[in-house]
Amino acid sequence: MEIVHTVENTRKILGQVSAEDKSIGFVPTMGALHEGHLDLMRRAKEENDYLVVSIFVNPIQFNNSEDLEKYPRTLESDIEKLESVSCDLVFNPSEEEMYPEPVTVKYNFGKLDLVMEGKHRPGHFHGVAVVVKKLFDIIQPDRAYFGQKDYQQLKVVEALVNKESLPVDVVACPTVREDDGLAMSSRNERLDEEERELAPVLYQSLKEVKDLAYKESVPEIKKWFEKQLEGYNDIQPEYFEIADAISCMPVDEMQKGKKYVACVAAHIGNVRLIDNIIINL
Ligand code: AMP
Repeated sequence: MEIVHTVENTRKILGQVSAEDKSIGFVPTMGALHEGHLDLMRRAKEENDYLVVSIFVNPIQFNNSEDLEKYPRTLESDIEKLESVSCDLVFNPSEEEMYPEPVTVKYNFGKLDLVMEGKHRPGHFHGVAVVVKKLFDIIQPDRAYFGQKDYQQLKVVEALVNKESLPVDVVACPTVREDDGLAMSSRNERLDEEERELAPVLYQSLKEVKDLAYKESVPEIKKWFEKQLEGYNDIQPEYFEIADAISCMPVDEMQKGKKYVACVAAHIGNVRLIDNIIINL
């Protein structure tokens, strides 16, 4: 496995790979790798000749400096995990390498910026789009793999690819969970023992929401969800929405035959977690 820190060397190596007519599968990450990441990588490796993974904690997608500072960085053990999935190249640039000049481009995703993650983390999706566009330019993958765990981010990346007519297939991968249902996340490492025990409540509640969706209205379900989490003093919900699964726009009512996604963000202690569940009505 090649471990590369510069854009120039990455381009050189990948230019050679493309010249050999090999397809490139790409998984962008911020490191602190877990099974959720590795699942994307195994799939990317299976569906392509050459696997590239990036590890870069992207400062411009954090709207909270404490979150950025406390984001886990575990490069050594990440590299071992990358070897285990037969990654071919890991791109691990410094901030200066990724942003030699101040960012001037401005991405606007319209209503996606105004709801759920977009609303609660101003500037977040702009930062995601800037880094993903740069990474796609450097790596020029045939396929890029993203987790449904970050459902709205997936929609933003799809919109970016459409907007900029980028020659890359975006592949959506299901959320990988712990045995107790908690969605795997690098941030889970920051939960203390009690918080970790509490955290699966989010997914358990989402599963109940999915059952309720067949018989209750959206406002009733929202009320139920709010009440459900009120029972846990150490969970502070930030939002709960049921959104159209294609547009990601929150809805007030659901129709049979359509697909929705119930999304939640909540703080447990100092850790902000998100999760979602797909509802096929
Ligand atoms: P991150 O390192 O958190 O930026 O995540 C990198 C990629 O891994 C993103 O496409 C995430 O959606 C995906 N990912 C993170 N956690 C999971 C999970 N539990 N299951 C599936 N994909 C995930």
